[in-house]
Amino acid sequence: MAKEDNQNRTELAALGEFGLIDRIAEKFSTFKHQETALGIGDDAALMDCGDFYQVVSTDMLVEMIHFDLSYMPLQHLGFKAVAVNISDIAAMNAIPKQITVSIALSNRFSVEALDAFYDGVHKACEVFGVDLVGGDTTASNHGLVISITAIGTVDKDKVVKRSGAKSGDIVCATGDLGAAYIGLQVLVREKQEFQANPQMQPKLEGYDYVVGRQLKPMARMDVIHELGKVGVVPTAMMDISDGLASELLHICRHSKVGVNIFEDKLPIDEVAYENAVEFQLDPVTAAMNGGEDYELLFTIKQDDYEKIKNLPDIHTIGYIQAEEKGKNLVTKQGNVYPLQAQGFTHM
Ligand code: ADP
Ligand code: MG
Repeated sequence: MAKEDNQNRTELAALGEFGLIDRIAEKFSTFKHQETALGIGDDAALMDCGDFYQVVSTDMLVEMIHFDLSYMPLQHLGFKAVAVNISDIAAMNAIPKQITVSIALSNRFSVEALDAFYDGVHKACEVFGVDLVGGDTTASNHGLVISITAIGTVDKDKVVKRSGAKSGDIVCATGDLGAAYIGLQVLVREKQEFQANPQMQPKLEGYDYVVGRQLKPMARMDVIHELGKVGVVPTAMMDISDGLASELLHICRHSKVGVNIFEDKLPIDEVAYENAVEFQLDPVTAAMNGGEDYELLFTIKQDDYEKIKNLPDIHTIGYIQAEEKGKNLVTKQGNVYPLQAQGFTHM
C-alpha cells in the first residue's frame, strides 16, 4: 500500500457513508455500454434488455457490525442475508430470479455451522423463488463476511426508482416500523445479562415479535405482487433498511421534493410499542431511525389511492410537497420537526 501523506489525509468519517458513495459515483458516472441504464444511487442498478430491465443489487454483512453470532442463529442469518438483498430488488418493483452468495470464514466454523447457514439460504431461495447460481468462498482471519448479489427483472413500464415522487403524491409504508430495532435492544440486553451471569436463562417471553423482526426479516415481495394485481405502479420506492427518516430523505433528494409525515399515522405494532416503553426507548424514534425493518416505502398518485386503500398492510403516512416546504414530521400535537436521518429525539 502506498504511504499516506499525512498532510493530505481526510478521515472517512468526514465524508460519511453517503458522501463516500457519492464520491465513488462521481468517478464512474459515464457508461461505456448503452445497456447500462442506471448505475450507483438507487436500490439496484438497471440493465436494458429490450422490453425489460435486468435489476442487480449487492449487499455485504460483516460479523460484529451487522450481526452477532451469540444471538443470531446461523440458519436465520442465512435467511436474512438473502432477504435483505431481495428487499432491494422488490424496491425497484422487480421480481428476483437469481442470487450469488460469497462467504469469507475462519476455521472457527464447523461444517455443521456452514450447513445451518446454507439451510437458511436454501429456505430463502424457496420462499422468494430464486436460484442460487454462484458465489465465492475464501478464508478470513476475523469473523464471517457474507456478500450476496441478487438479480431480477422488471418490465420497463413497471420499474420504480427513488426519483419519481411528485408534489401531491401520497406516501405509503408497509407493515410496521421500529420493531427490528427494539428486538435488537432486547437481544443486546440479554447478551449483557448472560455475560454477567452465564447460568442465566434467556428471558425472551413477551418479546417474540420484536426479536423475530430482528432475526427473520421478510422482504415484501407479497406487496409487490399485490400492487401488480391492482395495477398500481408507485411513483417512487425504496426499502426501509436504515430507518424511515433516512429513506424519506433519500426519496426527497432524488425526486427533488419535500414531504410531510404524520406521527399519528406511523405504523407501530402494539406489542413493539409496549416493549419499547419498557426498555425506555421512544417507539416513534425507533420507527423513524431504528432501521432493519425491510419494509417498503413508496409514493403513489392520489388517483391510485382507491386501488390500494383496502390492501392489507399498506399504510398512508403522509404526502409529498414542494421541496421548499421542507421535509417534516408533524407530531400528534401539531408541532413540525425537520426530518433527521439520525439522532432525532422525540421526547
Ligand atoms: P441499500 O441500503 O439500498 O442497499 P446502499 O445505501 O447500500 O443501498 O447503497 C446505495 C447505492 O450506492 C447503491 O446503488 C449501491 O449499489 C451503491 N454503492 C454502495 N457502496 C458502493 C461502492 N463501494 N461502490 C459502488 N457503489 C456502491
Ligand atoms: Mg435499499
